[in-house]
Amino acid sequence: MERYIRLEKLGEGTYAMVHKGSNRMTGEIVALKEITLDPEEGAPSTAIREISLMKELRHPNIVVLHDVVHTDTVLMLVFEYMDFDLKKFMDMRQGRLEKGLIKSFMLQLLKGVGYCHENHVLHRDLKPQNLLINRKGELKLADFGLARAFGIPVNTFSNEVVTLWYRAPDVLLGSRNYSTSIDIWSAGCIFAGKLFWRARILEMHTGRPLFPGKNNEDQLQRIFKVLGTPTELTWPGIQELPGYKSPTTFFPPQPLNLILPIMDPYALDLLNRMLQYSPHLRISANEALLHPYFHVDK
Ligand code: ADP
Ligand code: MG
Repeated sequence: MERYIRLEKLGEGTYAMVHKGSNRMTGEIVALKEITLDPEEGAPSTAIREISLMKELRHPNIVVLHDVVHTDTVLMLVFEYMDFDLKKFMDMRQGRLEKGLIKSFMLQLLKGVGYCHENHVLHRDLKPQNLLINRKGELKLADFGLARAFGIPVNTFSNEVVTLWYRAPDVLLGSRNYSTSIDIWSAGCIFAGKLFWRARILEMHTGRPLFPGKNNEDQLQRIFKVLGTPTELTWPGIQELPGYKSPTTFFPPQPLNLILPIMDPYALDLLNRMLQYSPHLRISANEALLHPYFHVDK
């Protein structure tokens, strides 16, 4: 009766358990994302959203949703199987990723993000665990559970999201009209933190993500300590944000090349454009794809 055979566990996420599976008829290997249903409430809105968005989005850098199986107790999303997520992949490599591979991952990440943005979809939860990689070196965005089409009223998502490390400062300061630029911030944090910081571990013994904040306040502090405390001058409009407090300490901005000496000048320039305080000044995904980092062989 069951169409899929459940194999080993692949991962656990914010609201689902994911297993490797195989199609009983064809033997095709897939990923089964199972969401346990509350019999009273039925399918959770995050799952419904994920399903409708994944059906709309078709792109080589977005994981394919093959099938949806709905029983009384479980909602099962059947996805294209990917070998690792970026976090597992980094942990396995324990150190240097070749620069060419980093560039290829960033290119694919930005292509996927650019496609979402063209279709008025924000991912909103980009982090290494939600980026899937296969042995062919393809990278695809997964986990659109928190994604939402523009225009739907926005709640704070503090009660939904766990890690703050990739969260944009405008969101941390309570902005309600954030937009595509929040995904660019996250991609920048992944670029610098996950892809590059690892490369320094062996040399520096300080293997940490770029901004590993413990709570909202701490997250902002860590950003300010690196990029400088923002002011109305460096970030016009900051004082109108609901979470804005007059700072007691002013941290000067630190030159990114001293913090991330492993990054070459074009990579640093791209990173700098992704980590702009003012959302309007943050580079868009499609602009980023035209950046010399991807096109000039230095
Ligand atoms: P959640 O929405 O609960 O966070 P995710 O979709 O992020 O769930 O999946 C949780 C984890 O399961 C991922 O971080 C990844 O390790 C693994 N995973 C998810 N989808 C796949 C897939 N298609 N192929 C392989 N592993 C997957
Ligand atoms: Mg996830």
